Amino acid sequence: MNRIETDVIIIGGGATGAGTARDLSMRGLRCVLIEKNDIASGTTGRNHGLLHSGARYAVKDHESAHECMRENKTLRKIAWHCIEDTGGLFVTLPEDDPGYHRLLLEGCRYAGIPAKEISIRKALQLEPNLNPGILSAMTVPDGTIDPFRLTSSNMLDAKERGAIILTHTRVSSILKEGSKVSGVSCITKNGDVIEVMAPVIINAAGVWGQEVCAMADIKLPMFPSKGSMLIIDYRINGVVVNRCRPPADGDIIVPGDTVSLIGTTSKEIPYDKIDDYTIDDDEIDILLSDGEKLIPNVKNTRALRAYCGVRPLVAVSGEAEGRNISRGIVLIDHKERDGLDGLITISGGKLMTYRLMAEKTSDLACKKLGVKKKCKTHKVPLPGSESRFSSGRTVKRFSGIPDSVVGSTFYRHGQRLRNIMTGEKKNYRLICECEMVTEGEIEYAIKKLDVKDLVDLRRRTRIGMGPCQGELCAYRGAGLFHEYGGTTPEGSVELLHDFLEERWKGIRPVLWGDGLRESEFTYWIYQGLFGLSHVNNKKKKKG
Ligand SMILES: Cc1cc2nc3c(=O)[nH]c(=O)nc-3n(C[C@H](O)[C@H](O)[C@H](O)COP(=O)(O)OP(=O)(O)OC[C@H]3O[C@@H](n4cnc5c(N)ncnc54)[C@H](O)[C@@H]3O)c2cc1C
Repeated sequence: MNRIETDVIIIGGGATGAGTARDLSMRGLRCVLIEKNDIASGTTGRNHGLLHSGARYAVKDHESAHECMRENKTLRKIAWHCIEDTGGLFVTLPEDDPGYHRLLLEGCRYAGIPAKEISIRKALQLEPNLNPGILSAMTVPDGTIDPFRLTSSNMLDAKERGAIILTHTRVSSILKEGSKVSGVSCITKNGDVIEVMAPVIINAAGVWGQEVCAMADIKLPMFPSKGSMLIIDYRINGVVVNRCRPPADGDIIVPGDTVSLIGTTSKEIPYDKIDDYTIDDDEIDILLSDGEKLIPNVKNTRALRAYCGVRPLVAVSGEAEGRNISRGIVLIDHKERDGLDGLITISGGKLMTYRLMAEKTSDLACKKLGVKKKCKTHKVPLPGSESRFSSGRTVKRFSGIPDSVVGSTFYRHGQRLRNIMTGEKKNYRLICECEMVTEGEIEYAIKKLDVKDLVDLRRRTRIGMGPCQGELCAYRGAGLFHEYGGTTPEGSVELLHDFLEERWKGIRPVLWGDGLRESEFTYWIYQGLFGLSHVNNKKKKKG
């Protein structure tokens, strides 16, 4: 059995855990982050990717609204390569309460959000696809943030500062000595057991935080609320479009990379269903019909896939509905709450308040360890966002690689582009045409960004995330694992199989029309031509 001694253990590799690993490493502490799947595979990778202005919360939850606005400004400085400054609109439809517009403007003013009322004509100029029948509009500083890029950059920085990152490793028990925690026992994908020993353990396991607490015999009831989202096959809006009404289903359309995303629903689910990512037909119907009310062009698009996430909300007694429960940050010192020293839970909040959550958590961990170092994460840019002055164009001059390819790589990795783009031939070779991912980028991701399989690779590079959903690139990507990841040829085929199964989960809920036709085509390529059914059968026999 392997044993590691460290100062702090972080359970969970979502944005919160990754941000905490970065913060603690910057303060000079040793830490080990343990994630049972891949980084950003929990709720962090299952949301809209909205860089909130805070306006969505400005009527009912001023504290969250204010926090969002503050972090919005900070993230634009330290993580600009993960952000697109799209701007946002709140628009009132004829069927909505016209009085809410004023209420929202007032709430925004109170929370320090620069919301500005604009004419309908101006709104239609900003977003030509918008429903021309809207009654009123205001602009807010919304944007979009790529959760995978953000988490990966935090992880990379933590690692470069000495943190140990264990992905595909599950914490199975919390070790205690009297009324103090002393470490965790965890198990890798291959079944190896590792003991990690530390005086402080941070539970950043999101909605799974209830299970982690249970390992320490502590009750922490979560209030799971599932939200589903739908991706359509092209980018029908350039600005985030929000519906100006109290939060409800289907009231936002977020542009992201080459596609747009309609969100979201909110359904209470029992705790034992948090890993069941089924999307119901009624959710798809709501998202399509409400999305069409905001942007009528939705009806001319093809639904590419649907997915859902579960909000990590800690139940507060007396509150009964998913959208009414606080989205605020919950930081628990279990010494004070339950008499167990060394265990800290961080939950609630949002993707975009991850840095603030990490700061508060690290402050508490440092206090427990007697470390006086202050947080610097609000000042120091993430890897890729080091300075604003170097652009893809500079690299192009040196390498002669086509502008479009350089631009895509720069878009995903910011200034770390330098570590990827060289004049080598592999940077001309496109592996994923939809997202312009080159062989060089894949090599970099496998070697430097903790990529263990094709699904991880998708999160780091967007391979297979474009309109073809992996149909034309997945097998090439799998082949490169043999080249750069030391996988056997049989292992690469298994990676391919698992990747397609994963993609299939999101495609299944939207199988009709052209989408169905394309899936049939993919099926025949992979099952018929490449014989993947053979792997299927072998897996079934093993299982
Ligand atoms: C539908 C929906 C839409 C949203 N939209 C937005 C948005 O647009 N903007 C925004 O800012 N926020 C949004 N959010 C909120 C945001 O996604 C979450 O607040 C945030 O991602 C939580 O991150 P986290 O790191 O705390 O948790 P998670 O990302 O869930 O990370 C927890 C990690 O812990 C790991 N883990 C669990 N148990 C163990 C174990 N035993 N051992 C090891 N690892 C373990 C999990 O695998 C997981 O990766 C949305 C949420 C939902 C559900």
